[in-house]
Amino acid sequence: MFIPKRVYFEPEALDYPLGQELKQRFSGMGIPIRLTGSHNRVTGIPGKTVAEGYREAKSTLVVGVRRGKDFQSCKPSAHFQLPLATSCPGMCEYCYLATTLGKKPYLRIYVNIDEILARAAEYISQHMPDITVFEGGATSDPVPVEPLTGSLRKAVEFFSSQPNGRFRFATKFTDIGGLCKAEHNNHTRVRFSINTEEIIRRYEHRTPSLKERIKAAQKLWECGYPIGFLVAPIFLEGEWRQEYGQLFAQLRQEFSQLPKDLTFELITHRFTARAKNNLLALFPNTSLPLNEKERQFKFGQFGYGKYVYEKNAMDELRRDMTGLVHQYFPEGKIDYLV
Ligand code: SF4
Repeated sequence: MFIPKRVYFEPEALDYPLGQELKQRFSGMGIPIRLTGSHNRVTGIPGKTVAEGYREAKSTLVVGVRRGKDFQSCKPSAHFQLPLATSCPGMCEYCYLATTLGKKPYLRIYVNIDEILARAAEYISQHMPDITVFEGGATSDPVPVEPLTGSLRKAVEFFSSQPNGRFRFATKFTDIGGLCKAEHNNHTRVRFSINTEEIIRRYEHRTPSLKERIKAAQKLWECGYPIGFLVAPIFLEGEWRQEYGQLFAQLRQEFSQLPKDLTFELITHRFTARAKNNLLALFPNTSLPLNEKERQFKFGQFGYGKYVYEKNAMDELRRDMTGLVHQYFPEGKIDYLV
């Protein structure tokens, strides 16, 4: 479970039962508590260097109230983001949040989960009779803070009773015990983000091992959840074909019985100019492939451009990765490959 080194509360967060409960819990643990006027502008996180500030931010929790009424769109994995948390304790060098969270990506949780779910209900009814899908992991890995908030469990139970609402979230973490007790009604799909052992060792610091992630996926599958794997980010470097081949072979071996309705999302490595600047400041010796000249420039859904692999490389990858999914998981479904 994630244990912060320091916690900031927005004063309004203490008007909610979860805010009070967390305050008592952290005080009892002797964790320093401060107030902050806004969960968006938190000052006083220590660190003499950029790298130190980053590490300290990853041990800092901010407890706030989500006030905005609107949810962001979330292509291609869902229709809307479900805002439950921000950031995570992991330190992946390539973190996809580096564009938006900057150099001090502190963790943030919201205490007004009931209001957030009520807003989700409005979105669902506005889009009737269609099914509306919400993604819970678009701005965070929501699992490490779940033992503190129980927000995922609440969301799972909320969506279980929504005929036209579906929930999904992706994670690399394994604190999923409480979810097994939740009524999910097959309306929530949990996807585990995996990568080759080498990529995990090189870039995904402070995250669970591949084996632990697969074990957590098996556990949720045994609890009846639809599950999936998000292979991301896929790097087309070195012996990538063999390494991803080994990854799929291992994944297949770990399942004595194949889950029905298994999904795959395949996401190639990409970066924005802002993310590159932030990542180089945080990991000056990184071996991440960040040479713009080897990439193609493309505009993304939030208006900023990103550097993606070139078309020929993508065609090759599409052929090979699709082939691996079909070879090892003939009934597996590829939701998308980008
Ligand atoms: Fe970023 Fe996800 Fe890694 Fe956390 S686990 S640092 S959110 S990429």
